[in-house]
Amino acid sequence: MKILKFGGTCLGSEDTLQRVAKVVKDEKDQKIVVVSAASGVTNSLKDCTSRPRQEKEIEDFVLTTKLRNIDMLPKKDGAGRKEALDMIDAKVTKLERLLYGVNYTEELTGRTSDLILSFGERLSAIVVASRLAHENMNAVPMETDALGLITSEQHGNAVALLDRSEKNMGPTLEAAVKKDVVPVVTGFFGITESGHVTTVGRSGTDYTAAVVAYSTNANPIEIWKEVDGFMSADPKLVKEAYQIDRLSYDEAAELAYFGAQVLHARAVQPAKLKGIDIVIKNLYRPENPGTIIGASKLTRKEVIKSVSYLSNIATLKVYDTGAGYKSGFLADITGCLSKAGVNVLSAAMSQTCVAILIDDADIPIAKRAIKSMTGGAGESFEINPGVALVCTVGEGFGYTKGVAARVFKAVATKNINVDLISAGASMVAYHFTVDRKDLKNTINAIHHEFFGQTVPENSSNNPVS
Ligand code: ASP
Ligand code: MG
Repeated sequence: MKILKFGGTCLGSEDTLQRVAKVVKDEKDQKIVVVSAASGVTNSLKDCTSRPRQEKEIEDFVLTTKLRNIDMLPKKDGAGRKEALDMIDAKVTKLERLLYGVNYTEELTGRTSDLILSFGERLSAIVVASRLAHENMNAVPMETDALGLITSEQHGNAVALLDRSEKNMGPTLEAAVKKDVVPVVTGFFGITESGHVTTVGRSGTDYTAAVVAYSTNANPIEIWKEVDGFMSADPKLVKEAYQIDRLSYDEAAELAYFGAQVLHARAVQPAKLKGIDIVIKNLYRPENPGTIIGASKLTRKEVIKSVSYLSNIATLKVYDTGAGYKSGFLADITGCLSKAGVNVLSAAMSQTCVAILIDDADIPIAKRAIKSMTGGAGESFEINPGVALVCTVGEGFGYTKGVAARVFKAVATKNINVDLISAGASMVAYHFTVDRKDLKNTINAIHHEFFGQTVPENSSNNPVS
């Protein structure tokens, strides 16, 4: 059995929906479809609750949402159109009540927010199922709260409880597939043990698709989107960048975390636990084999596989002459930042300084948080914006000598100054920071060093025998 996951950009128009239906129909294996909200919908739901609204605004928003979904149904009266219209109507009515509730009570809890955000996926599951039914498939929309995708209580960033979810969802989904039903399952959300809807973080449908795969022992998970797969570098920065055929789980997780927008980093974990392959597929070029992510295949040829980056980073440095001796110094600082909602991307510590990488956007909050620490955190601190974090990824780091030296020599030759380096924390990646203005040169220098200046004729990897 396969999982076919379709992202928001696959669900936004008549043309893409037809392509989706063709992909599902052409798949001869047993299959379960998992869908995101159509692109823009989750943002619009979030925006609608972001400030108090006039009743008229809510009314208009709900009507627009409803019409947009109806517009995406197959035009002709056919199998199940009436049912789909009724289902959309019921969802939209509930959504409207929730939005009024938030507006009147002037209170938006994490719990209510998650419930409201889940409607994007609920609606797209109806739309996609109706499209598949139109193509003579026996498709049924199914919601992950009703199926019992159990998560932790952390609203907005919940984690799936895999074994509980497997017990709940596995039998139901497998029984449906056996009866030739194509389940169209909502991504992005689940439910707590106590019965409240939770979302798993933005772009989280890849992750829920992996949880569905885990629960049904499906293999592989195909992630359908509008790109071919992972690349050796961002083609916007490096013109010789090429598509990668194969990545290990850890390589994919590092790349996903550090900048590559191809896959949600968390999707790797459930897949890795059961050895399920994840395949990135392009809706516009279904014949392209895409990037396959699976058990590690070491290669001699490609020591590193890709260079990715995060361009909007700031370095926070807290100085204290005795930092290295003070127990809990690092924990105090990261704890205080995390309480303030600042995500710590990486941390390094010396005898006199703790250096922490944060998102540029978090600078003001981080400043306030550090200043407010009781007794002051350290003797002084500084924040350096305008930094980029470069991440070179490859299983080759673990078994080839001199890789780091090659990386840094390539960068040094371009006269680029490297600031913080983090190596060893991950077996498959080296991270370092450079000035943001040097980013393009840095990425190109590394790409040229390892992949040469020409596009490889065959980028496939030769497994070490
Ligand atoms: N619809 C959700 C979001 O936009 C989840 C997803 O797209 O995967 O974040
Ligand atoms: Mg989305």
